[in-house]
Amino acid sequence: MKKQGRSRIWFGAALATLMSFAAVPGAAQADPGHGPGTARTGSGSDCSAGYVALTFDDGPTASTTAYLKALRDAGRVRATWFVTGALAAASPEGTRRIAAAGHHIGNHSYTHPDLVSLDAATAYAELRDTSRVVRAQTGRAPTLFRPPFGSTDARTRQDAARLGMTEVIWTADTVDWSGIPTETVVSNALTVRAGGIVLLHDGLQNTLAAIPGIVEGLAERGLCPGRIVRSAEPVEAWPGLTFHAKAARW
Ligand SMILES: [Zn+2]
Repeated sequence: MKKQGRSRIWFGAALATLMSFAAVPGAAQADPGHGPGTARTGSGSDCSAGYVALTFDDGPTASTTAYLKALRDAGRVRATWFVTGALAAASPEGTRRIAAAGHHIGNHSYTHPDLVSLDAATAYAELRDTSRVVRAQTGRAPTLFRPPFGSTDARTRQDAARLGMTEVIWTADTVDWSGIPTETVVSNALTVRAGGIVLLHDGLQNTLAAIPGIVEGLAERGLCPGRIVRSAEPVEAWPGLTFHAKAARW
């Protein structure tokens, strides 16, 4: 049921994006961004408690530019965006803006299927084609991959590895797609612990509105938004599923 609900949300968001794509101002200025290695303490946190990674799935959408502004306004916060190949292809400007603002772009499959249920060739093409689109648009092939719905298996991980990507699940699920209020998105995000990875989605008003509260709440605990790196130790997403990624300093 959860899976179905999320699919519906995603298709709704995808449709909205495709329909509103023509309305996205193509002449809007690219975010000036910030280069790698810049101090990332704009949020007011001293980062003494460590780093957590904010991730936004299912973009780019018509809201991506607003999200980028919210993150910038919250203290030049950077995040990881798991985009689908189909939406990236439909909105190359969205992908470029994310990259230009210094964020990391990960692969979230091409059409957002349950990869485990597909035949081997189709499943691999979902990942390969998305990496091609992102590479063509940003000059860099993704090094991080998140399976839709967190649905994965050995074959999926192998496909990702073959394309030079580390699989990333999450350690804090905000359930932001379910229509919960902004405050609940914030409090769900703030259950994350140092090194953890927060699951959020592009294209949602409650999530967009939650960004300042999340960054503030992290800063109060001495945490800073960071990037995602490979972890030697397995990290548990939920009982029975582990992955090898964690948050670290940008
Ligand atoms: Zn997704």
